[in-house]
Amino acid sequence: MPVDSFHTSGHSPGPEVSPPTALSPGANNAFIGLQCHLCKTPFPAEALYVCDRCLGPLEPVYDYGAIRLTREEIAKRPKSLWRYRELLPIVGQPRTGFNAGFTPLVRCDRLAERLGVDELYIKDDSVNHPTLSYKDRVVAVAATRAVELGFKVLACASTGNLANSVAAHAARLGLECCVFIPDNLEAGKLLGSAIFGPTILAIAGNYDDVNRLCTQVADRYGWGFVNINLRSYYAEGAKTYGFEIVEQLGWRYPRHVVSPVAGGTLLPRILRGFRELREVGLVDGELPRVHAAQAAGCAPVVRALEAGLEYPEPVRPDTIAKSIAIGNPADGYQVIQSVRATGGSGVAVSDPQIIDAIRLLAETEGIFTEPAGGTTLAGAVDLIQRGLIPRDESLVVCVTGNGYKTAEVVSDRLAAPVRLSRAFKEFEAWWEARQAIA
Ligand SMILES: [Zn+2]
Repeated sequence: MPVDSFHTSGHSPGPEVSPPTALSPGANNAFIGLQCHLCKTPFPAEALYVCDRCLGPLEPVYDYGAIRLTREEIAKRPKSLWRYRELLPIVGQPRTGFNAGFTPLVRCDRLAERLGVDELYIKDDSVNHPTLSYKDRVVAVAATRAVELGFKVLACASTGNLANSVAAHAARLGLECCVFIPDNLEAGKLLGSAIFGPTILAIAGNYDDVNRLCTQVADRYGWGFVNINLRSYYAEGAKTYGFEIVEQLGWRYPRHVVSPVAGGTLLPRILRGFRELREVGLVDGELPRVHAAQAAGCAPVVRALEAGLEYPEPVRPDTIAKSIAIGNPADGYQVIQSVRATGGSGVAVSDPQIIDAIRLLAETEGIFTEPAGGTTLAGAVDLIQRGLIPRDESLVVCVTGNGYKTAEVVSDRLAAPVRLSRAFKEFEAWWEARQAIA
């Protein structure tokens, strides 16, 4: 399928489908190229991700002065991450992800009451489109850029959610797809890739082993690995999570954000998104404190924050929170910088705390998250109890993935259904016995 058949196919769009023509036409003149995050050396906008002088990560540069964005203009645009297109690193029209992003920012009063805080929100990417995780943001941008750069094979190293999203976007774009995962993933995560028909390579090892292999494959075969050689573009998609928080709060910053940390893409880009909105004049005020939550069984960033280190020391993951079980986070340095710059904290929580938080969120707010979301909520609870998040200050908790993909984590802890025959008398006997106990 030609990648731009979206423009001309007979596909009838639903109310939320956002054709690219709804966006400002022509090239994105504000996107200039790449530069090293550390030494600021400029690089061309190619599939480059590491500085050849200092090995720092590369990131896109924009001419913020050339961006004329207003709140009113953004409000008129379709509800997807492409509504902030001027601040994303593509040069032509978006190719995919027309319904990705703009997920609900849910005000959670029942949960807030339970935790004894005044103003709490869940930014809920467990309902992101099309594969129910925050990864649909980063893949929408990376896949569009992959098409612009002429890649024919879309690939990734993944703990599950990313593979789901890469496989779905590749299917839609008609690209060949190859995803690499550890061989111990949850059944729902595996199925969530397989249905889209990619080649799945389940590698004997953990994520860090998979990632090392993929770096070699990317170098040798020139495939478009969204989180390796396309990482400079991929990571920018995560900014939209921060943009949306500000817009959905009525163009203001919250006081606190608690983000999960796996490879470390999301947390620094939430902050980068917050800063960029201020840079282009869409919001002002003090930046939020950004807090990093990890599972205690894989907490290299939290340990580094506690020890006063600049870089995390790699660990061997051991946690039920497999989607964030990355022992050697690629952007760990940037996470540590971002947390320190905003006066935030790091927090590590146990597997039982993660499961309790998954259930608490489900039972108070009707939101079912995977262990990564349980980790951020459990982390927020801990920070509130320790007084690091004051009870009268606004708080956004990041929920990045969906609990239906990791059902086995909670399934044996939930109430079994009451099994009855079809006879009314049996129901009546059960009900009356229950009332008697109550
Ligand atoms: Zn450099």
